[in-house]
Amino acid sequence: MMTTTPSEQTMFGIPCGSSFIQGDYKWPVHGEDFATTNPATGHVITHVARGCRADVDAAVDAARSAQPAWAAMSPSERAACLQQLASVIGDNVELLADIEVRDAGKPRQLAKHDVAGCIEYFRYYAGAIDKFLGSTIPLGPGYLDYTQHEPLGVSAHIVPWNAPINMLCRSLAPALAMGNSAVVKPAEQTPLSSLKLAELFSDYLPQGLFNVVTGLGEEAGEALAKHPDADSVTFTGSVATGRKVLHAAADHIKPVVLELGGKAPQIVLPDADLDDAAAEIAKGAFTNSGQYCDAGARLLVHDSIAEPLIDRIVAIAAKLTIGPGAEDPDLGPLVSRQHFEHVCGYLSLAQEQGAQTRLGGAALQQAGYFVPPTVFTQVTPEMRVFREEIFGPVLTATRFGSNAEALTLANDCDYGLAAGIYTRDINSALWLTEGLEAGYVMINEYFAGGVNTPFGGSKNSGYSRERGMVALENYTRLKNVVVSRRSPTT
Ligand code: NAD
Repeated sequence: MMTTTPSEQTMFGIPCGSSFIQGDYKWPVHGEDFATTNPATGHVITHVARGCRADVDAAVDAARSAQPAWAAMSPSERAACLQQLASVIGDNVELLADIEVRDAGKPRQLAKHDVAGCIEYFRYYAGAIDKFLGSTIPLGPGYLDYTQHEPLGVSAHIVPWNAPINMLCRSLAPALAMGNSAVVKPAEQTPLSSLKLAELFSDYLPQGLFNVVTGLGEEAGEALAKHPDADSVTFTGSVATGRKVLHAAADHIKPVVLELGGKAPQIVLPDADLDDAAAEIAKGAFTNSGQYCDAGARLLVHDSIAEPLIDRIVAIAAKLTIGPGAEDPDLGPLVSRQHFEHVCGYLSLAQEQGAQTRLGGAALQQAGYFVPPTVFTQVTPEMRVFREEIFGPVLTATRFGSNAEALTLANDCDYGLAAGIYTRDINSALWLTEGLEAGYVMINEYFAGGVNTPFGGSKNSGYSRERGMVALENYTRLKNVVVSRRSPTT
């Protein structure tokens, strides 16, 4: 940490040591900042504000003041504004992707894909504004009963580092669409894309509508989660922090959107097309170096096809390139030293607990936080790598002999976010789907779906749904109006 004095130094046009509050870059009240680093090298990129309670207060105040006029705009005016924001992102794809490459270590194509997803969020929710309908409820003659959706007010967004700008836009777009203002706390590892987005949007949004307070989780994050004047919290991150956020929000009885971790099974039945399944499984396990909540980290494979399938997956994974995001490899580095050490700990643990290493299994000996694609076989439910979220490029393989056994293994985990099934047998696919404790099931294609498919989990993965029309409920409250018609006087 260091003490910031306002400086002319910028990175990506972002002034060193700042947050973004009330339509402009601001230095933190207590003048402290912290470094954000490039995980491909471990070198410092720049410093951002270490926001504290007072900075969060200022951001929430700004958002509170800006919100009523925004909510009072007609749906078509607000939709036009969101379309404009989509265009602004579209005009700055390269810049925003560059930031994600440097700050989060993303391979360039993946970073561009994340940014393209942000355009989709703003377009989709611009189109949704006048289609999120209330209802009329038949109470019988003499009554009119209708429901309407109202904005919550100030929405708080606490964002993780694994897809920084994409995760932010996933919740920001529907929140703004429904007439809310926003205060965002990006992850300390990846604050830059949120700051740049706020700057880019500032020409098109009312001042103070969208604020970004950078800072540490237990400082700025906690202050935002428990702020009495923030009307909702959208939290995407780990289970441990999710619990804290839920507790913090409880004092003010505010709604919390919880999108937490996962340990998704990928179930392969004997009749699956093995080449196709292997390609999808490798994609599901290793994209973004496995740093996805819905990464398909647990292969559950029928005994009869286990060897040929694992051979195929290993052959695909062995060819994946790994390197700095700027070189556009298949896999970039893990996001930080701390996370690298967390993943490496699991590599050792898997081997200590008896898993067989079929591929990878050790970090690359070079600068930066690189872990190669790793495949462990003979993994049993007793092993911690079977059930704990590693959040790295690690696939564990476990065999089963029947659909019932596959289902038991799939559900034998505290998480319940996503699941993949590979088969041509529709009856088995639907039978498994009915029994799976997962909020998002993909049959024969991993990561299928997008902005319009509701996403979220059960068990320790959280309970909310983002994406799709249903996400608009996260940013509105429902009012019921009942009118009792009296007899006309004339
Ligand atoms: P994290 O919980 O450590 O941090 C997430 C955010 O919470 C960060 O902005 C952090 O600063 C903030 N934070 C930390 N302590 C806080 C506190 N006490 N109060 C308020 N905020 C606090 O998670 P992470 O390591 O950044 O992200 C990885 C996790 O996120 C994984 O478990 C992953 O599965 C999950 N994730 C889930 C989804 C989903 O949609 N379900 C999507 C992406 C990531």
